Amino acid sequence: MIGLVPEVIPLPPETAELRAAVRDFLAADRNRYGWEPRVDSWISSWDPGFSRRLAQQGWLGMTIPTEHGGQGRSHLERFVVTEELLAHGAPVAAHWVSDRQVGPALLKHGSTTQRERYLPRIASGECYFAIGMSEPEAGSDLASVRTRGVRVDGGWEVTGTKVWTSGAHHSEAFFVLARTEDLDPKHRHEGLSQFLITLNSPGIDIRPIKLLTGQHHFNEVVLDHVFVPDDMVVGTPGEGWRQVGSELSFERSGPERILSPQPLLDAVGAQLAGSDDVDDHSLVTFGNLVADLTTLRHLSSSVARALSNDEPADLAAALIKEIGTSFEQRVVSDCAELAAHAHTDLESSDTLGRLIAEALLHAPGFTLRGGTSEVLRGVIARGLGLR
Ligand SMILES: Cc1cc2nc3c(=O)[nH]c(=O)nc-3n(C[C@H](O)[C@H](O)[C@H](O)COP(=O)(O)OP(=O)(O)OC[C@H]3O[C@@H](n4cnc5c(N)ncnc54)[C@H](O)[C@@H]3O)c2cc1C
Repeated sequence: MIGLVPEVIPLPPETAELRAAVRDFLAADRNRYGWEPRVDSWISSWDPGFSRRLAQQGWLGMTIPTEHGGQGRSHLERFVVTEELLAHGAPVAAHWVSDRQVGPALLKHGSTTQRERYLPRIASGECYFAIGMSEPEAGSDLASVRTRGVRVDGGWEVTGTKVWTSGAHHSEAFFVLARTEDLDPKHRHEGLSQFLITLNSPGIDIRPIKLLTGQHHFNEVVLDHVFVPDDMVVGTPGEGWRQVGSELSFERSGPERILSPQPLLDAVGAQLAGSDDVDDHSLVTFGNLVADLTTLRHLSSSVARALSNDEPADLAAALIKEIGTSFEQRVVSDCAELAAHAHTDLESSDTLGRLIAEALLHAPGFTLRGGTSEVLRGVIARGLGLR
C-alpha cells in the first residue's frame, strides 16, 4: 500500500477537545430543535437552520482562510467535526456540497469575484450548491457530456440536460460541466469547462425525480440557452476536466463514504449491549464491522492529513470510496440481519425499525454516487500501473 495511501498517523490529542465540544453541541441542539438521527443525513436531511447554527459555532467553512470569511482551520479538524455530525445522523444536507467541495474548488480555481461572492456565505451556512455533472447519456463516462457552452457577448450560453442533481430545488447555484469546444475523439477530455450557474436564471427548468421513498431529492435540470456571464466561469475555459479531477479527492475521501449508516450501527450496538442473550455469531458479525470501521477511519483521516499538507490524494480517495462504500452496504445488510425482529417501517416510531428501513432504501446508491465501484477499481488499477 505504500504510495497508494498517505501515511496513517493517529489524530492529534488536541482534536479530542474539539470532538467533545461537537458532541455537546449536537446533544443540546437535538434536545432543543427535536431533529431525529437519520441514515444518509448528508444526502437526505436538509435543514438550513441547523446549517446556520453549526456555522455560528465556527464549524462550517473550517478550511476556508479567515481573509475569505472562513475559520482558517485544518482539514483534520474538519474531519473530526464531520465524523461527529455523520455519526449522530445530524441534518447536514443543506451545506454539504458547498462546504465539502465548492469552497475548496473556489479557493483553488475561483476568481476574486467568485470568492468574495460565495466563500463568506458558505462559511456562514447561508449559501447552498448542487453539482451538475451527470447527464442522461453521461454518468461514469463524464467526458461524453453533451451540455454545450457557446461563446456570446459578455459570457456564454449554456444548453443541455443534467440529471440526478441532488438538492437543485433548494440550492442557489450549481457547478455545471459543459463542452465548450468541438469534441476531438482522440482528446475527449479536452474542451470542457466549468460554470457556476444561478438556479433561478431564465431558461432553467428544475424537474423533480422522486425516490422510492417518495422523497424529493433528485432533479432533472434542463438548461435552455441560459446566459452565464464571464465572471461565472470557474477557472480556465477548456480546463474543466482537470479542475473536476482535482475536486474529486474532496468528494470521495471523506467520512461520508464510511459513516452514512452509522446511526444504524450505533442503534444495533445499543440493542446488543442491552440484551443478555446475544449469540456468538452476532457478536462476531458486529465485532467485524467495528474492526473494519476503525481501519477505514484511519485511511480517511490519512487523506484529510494529506489534503492539509496540499499533497495529492486522488488515488487514495478512490480507494477509500471503493472500500468504504462496500463496507457501508455490509453495515446495512448485517445490521438488518442482527436486528431481524425490529419492525421496519419508514414511519415507525421505533427508531431502530425506521433506521433499517431508511438504510435498506438508500444503500444501493452508496456505491454509485460520486463514481461507481467498477469505475473506481479502474482508477486504482491505473494508478498502480496495472492498466
Ligand atoms: C444518491 C445519488 C446522488 C447523486 N447525486 C448527483 C449529483 O448531485 N450530481 C450529479 O451530477 N450526479 C449525481 N449522481 C449521479 C452519479 O454520479 C451517477 O449515477 C454515477 O456517476 C454513475 O453514472 P450512471 O448512473 O450514468 O451509470 P453508468 O455510467 O451508465 O453505469 C452503469 C453501470 O455500468 C458500469 N460501468 C460504466 N462504465 C464502466 C467502465 N468503464 N468499467 C466498468 N464498469 C463500468 C457502472 O459501474 C454501472 O454499474 C448521484 C447518484 C446517486 C445514486
